[in-house]
Formats: sequence, C-alpha cells, structure tokens
Amino acid sequence: MSSPATLPSDTAARRSIQPLPDLLVSQIAAGEVVERPASVVKELIENALDAGATRIDVRLDGGGIKRIVVADNGGGIARDELPLALARHATSKIATLAELESVASLGFRGEALASIASVAAVSITSRTPAADSAFTLEAEGEARAIAAAGSVGTRVEVADLFFKTPARRKFLRTEQTELGHCLTQIERIAAAHPQVAFSVSHAGRTLLQLAPATPRERALKLLPEEFAAAHRSVQAEAPGIRVQGWVGLPTAARARADAQYFYVNGRYVRDKVLSHAVRAAYADVLHGASQPMYCLFLDIDPTRVDVNVHPTKIEVRLRDSSAVHQFVLHAVQAALAETVRMPAPTATNVQSLADLAAARSGYAPTPLQPPLGIAQPVAAYLDLMAARPALVPVAAPASAAFPADVAAPTATAAMPAQQAASMPPLGYAIAQLAGIYVLAQNSAGLVIVDMHAAHERIVYEKLKHQLDAHAIPQQRLLIPQVFAADALDVASSEEHADTLAQIGLDLAPAAPTQLALRAVPALLAAVDGADGAALARAVLRDLREYGGSRVLTEHRNELLGTLACHAAVRANRRLTLEEMNALLREMEATERADQCNHGRPTWVQLSIGDLDRLFLRGR
Ligand code: ADP
Ligand code: MG
Repeated sequence: MSSPATLPSDTAARRSIQPLPDLLVSQIAAGEVVERPASVVKELIENALDAGATRIDVRLDGGGIKRIVVADNGGGIARDELPLALARHATSKIATLAELESVASLGFRGEALASIASVAAVSITSRTPAADSAFTLEAEGEARAIAAAGSVGTRVEVADLFFKTPARRKFLRTEQTELGHCLTQIERIAAAHPQVAFSVSHAGRTLLQLAPATPRERALKLLPEEFAAAHRSVQAEAPGIRVQGWVGLPTAARARADAQYFYVNGRYVRDKVLSHAVRAAYADVLHGASQPMYCLFLDIDPTRVDVNVHPTKIEVRLRDSSAVHQFVLHAVQAALAETVRMPAPTATNVQSLADLAAARSGYAPTPLQPPLGIAQPVAAYLDLMAARPALVPVAAPASAAFPADVAAPTATAAMPAQQAASMPPLGYAIAQLAGIYVLAQNSAGLVIVDMHAAHERIVYEKLKHQLDAHAIPQQRLLIPQVFAADALDVASSEEHADTLAQIGLDLAPAAPTQLALRAVPALLAAVDGADGAALARAVLRDLREYGGSRVLTEHRNELLGTLACHAAVRANRRLTLEEMNALLREMEATERADQCNHGRPTWVQLSIGDLDRLFLRGR
C-alpha cells in the first residue's frame, strides 16, 4: 500500500484529484465501524438476527483479535449473492429512502462485511433452505463460491483483525480487555433478543450460555445478581410510543453506570436525553453519584427516530425528544413510586407536581419545554401527557372557555362552600415560584400561572384594542434613550416613521449610527426594566421583514406581539401578592387570557383530585 505520508511535502500541492481505490475506501469506512473485535462481533450477530436466527454461536480466540467465528441458523445467503454480501453498499435490507426512514432491521448500511473484509481475513460459509449444499467464499480468493459442508444458516469467520492495517492494530488492548468488550457487546444484544439462544466461548472454553427465555428471565440473567431482588417493572404506553422493562430500586444502586441497558426499537443505544430521563426519575430518591440499574425498552414509531446518525448506530436522534423525555421520566417515576417513599412534602417539593423543575433545570443537551406548556408537536405532546402514568389529569386549558370553565368547580373540597362562591375564577395568589410562576388558590384547587406569558397576553389584547381605536397612548420619555444602530436601522426608522407613530413609538436619528427613542406606548412605559433599545430594534426588524405600507393591516398581530413581548414582565421579577392578584384579575378581564401570543397556555388548573392522584392519595 502506498503511504501518502512518505511523499515529499512540496509535491502535495501539485497532486491531481483521483478517486480513491475501493480497498482504501473500505478501510476508511472501517475506521468508523470497526474499532475493535467487539465491533466485529456486534455486526456479525446483528446480521444473524436480521437473518432470523434462533441460535447464535460465537467462538473467539485471542480476545477476538486472532479469530471471531459467528455461526447462525438463519435464512442463509444464496450462492450467487455471496460475493455481494462482501461488496460495499450492498444490502438486502433496504432499497429506497422510504425504507431507510422506517427501517426495522438492525443492519441497512451494507458496509459492515466489506469494512471488516478490508481490515481482516474474512470467509463466509452459508446455505439457504433451498440449496442442496453450503457454499464458501473467501474474500481474498476469487469471487466464486465453492461447495462446502454445512447446515442451513451462515458462518462468518474473521481472522487476524487489523493485520492489513498495523497502525490500527496498535490501538487494541490486551486480549483480556478485548474479550471483555466482546462479552459486553454480546450481552447488550442478547438482552433484547430473549427468544434467541446464544453461546459464547473463548479459546475453547464456554463463557456464556443463554437458552431461549422470557424477556424478564433474560434480563435478570444478564444484570447483576442484586437486581433480581430489588427491581420494579415499568410499563407505559401512548399512541406511537411504549416503554417497558425493569428498573432497580434505589437500594440496589451502584457506583458505576455499568448496569444500564436502554434500547430504542430493539437497538441498544446510549442517548443523553434518555439516560437523563431515567436518572431524573430517581432524582428525589437516589443521591449523588449513585447509578441506578435498569433495562428499558422504548418502542417508538420508526419514523419518529433517526438511527442513521452514527455508523455503529449507538446514537439515535429523536424527533420530539422533550416529549419522549417526559414520557420515560414519568413511566420510571411511576414504577418507583409504587414502593419508594417520597420525601416529606415541603414547598420545594412542589416541583414534583408536574416537573416544574425539569423544565428549567440545567439540562443542557436538549432544552426542555416547560412541561405544562405545549411542546412541539402539540398533538404528540398531548398524547403523551394523557398517557403520563402518574400525571394523567393535568388540565391544560385548551379552549377559550375561560373563565366559565373555572367558575364551575369540579372539586370544592378544599374550602368551605361559601368562600368558594365569592372566589374569583382564578382565585387568590399565594406565592411566586422560581421567579416564573404565580401560584394561586381557587375553588377548584391550585392555579399555576406563567407570569410572563399571562402578562404578555394582557398587554397584547390591550394594544390591539387601542390600535383599533386609533389611540395607542404615547408616553414621551423624560430623557430620550440613545442606542447604537446600524445604517439599515436608521434608514428604516425614517422610512417607517408613520407606522412607528401609530404604534406609539417615536424614533429619531441621533447620529449616523445612533437612534434616539423618544416616546413609547404608555403601556410599555409602565414596565420597569423594559429595554427600549431592544424593543426598537425588534420592531425595526419586523418592519423590514414585513415591509410596505400595509404592515399595520397585514402584520398587525406580529407587530403588536413584538411590542407585548418586550412590555411583559420578565422572569425573576419579584411580584408582591397585590401585584400577583392584580395580574389574576387582569387575566380574568382579558379575552383569551388562557393563551399567550405564542400559543402556549398561560395558566393551568390542578384540581384537588389531580393533586390527590399525584400523591397517590385515594379519596
Ligand atoms: P447490512 O447488514 O447493513 O445489510 P452487511 O455488510 O452487514 O450489511 O451485510 C451485507 C448483506 O449480507 C446483508 O444485507 C445480508 O443480505 C447478507 N448477510 C450478512 N450476514 C448474513 C447472515 N448471517 N445471514 C444471512 N445473510 C447475511
Ligand atoms: Mg450488517
């Protein structure tokens, strides 16, 4: 093999573009798929499973570096297709993009055997039920299979891994370590295929023997011994999604995360969102660095998950990851709740109500929607909400029935009837939570208000009425607010001066790259901490985007939405009880106060019955 590294560097600039030789292409691909013997074992076993095998025998030598043989009793490969099995990008599993997007087999890339054959000596012996003998193909030999002895099924032998690429071979560890990786890999696959018998031997010694079993028997056999005595089953289902399996009790947690099996559509995956969801379910009951044990199977509509993210398919991409996160979290929580005593009810515990915390926690990879808001896509999320094992009855105020909805309380147990009668629909504020939510008590139970979203809606509706009456009251600023602006902003402010005036804004150029904000809608002036410059820039951006003289007729709502958003009270503003009550009363007086401008709900009702169910308190 020629080595580009030995070429004098001054020739590099003069080399012409050449297609890479096939072998080199496969060797490059092998870099991604074949990292160590365990990767070969995985690919071969997955092929056997895809072929419908019910028994798979794995024989290893030298930690798998010297030799890996995987024999199965699956459907086999026809004689004339044997050379194709070793060809790059040749597969029997998918033929179209549509099939890729809903792939159900473990393999589909058609590159595992080719990659392995480019870095090791491979031979395949296979027999289909229709053939009267088996046939063998040596990858290194001529591309014609010759008759051989063998029963129906396939036997793939891989010898001398990386002997063709010595540089890669140097990265392998001791035989014992590589053997350990092979076993881990086999166990991961075996846990998801309990109906298949497995046997594994190393240097002639049997290491693992698994008879066909039920899913639970298989999992218990593969997980650490302590698991058997300390686990709960998980089972939750909603349209298009299901999770089932077993989770260890907190008492059986471990120091290492080595007994955590998570599968998506039968495929073992390591996914931050999913493992976070499981860990979060233990949040209140498992301390510090302890690692729970679990074996969980998530089955999801294949079009809602992309497995073609990583060549070894160990990572997946979930389409609605926050909804799936919630679903898994609640399923595991519900399983644990059956026996685990929750900590004493304290104010901070309110977070377990509906995972208010999860919504705002420092969970980085995929920022979550507030669970009480409506995540994308709405329908899927609501399906999931409805299926949340422990939290079924979150009453999302979906319709504009507000406030009549609340006026007809479903549960008045919390307070005397008389008091209930004089209670305003949204009740009275009792506290502010996390600088974001206002908690109020009404005749039905607990009301949770998203302070910013609610205020935004109120301001928006008021602005709309004022604009319709051609009278958005303006408030001149005592001291104009001067801010840096680019030439485009300055130009837009002059071009759209009329429109700006109609919505109560007065902007004037103060210098070639500065604008002065001289007046704002009176509604906004009342908001302390409102950033006039940010508001002005956002409005100018809107005006440029929507353009033209008809902006106020055709894009009135967008423009007012921008104004309202900047005018609304920001998170972390501390409100007094009086201010909170004033907000509740304004909400009651405002049309559609149950939805903010972005279509998220502004408040939800949790009835006493809902709360009872959360705390598993039968009434
Ligand atoms: P992929 O699994 O992505 O299709 P592979 O390179 O792993 O790609 O395998 C190529 C093809 O060889 C498969 O599509 C399948 O048709 C055939 N094949 C490989 N292993 C087996 C097996 N154990 N039994 C039957 N067919 C197999
Ligand atoms: Mg394969």
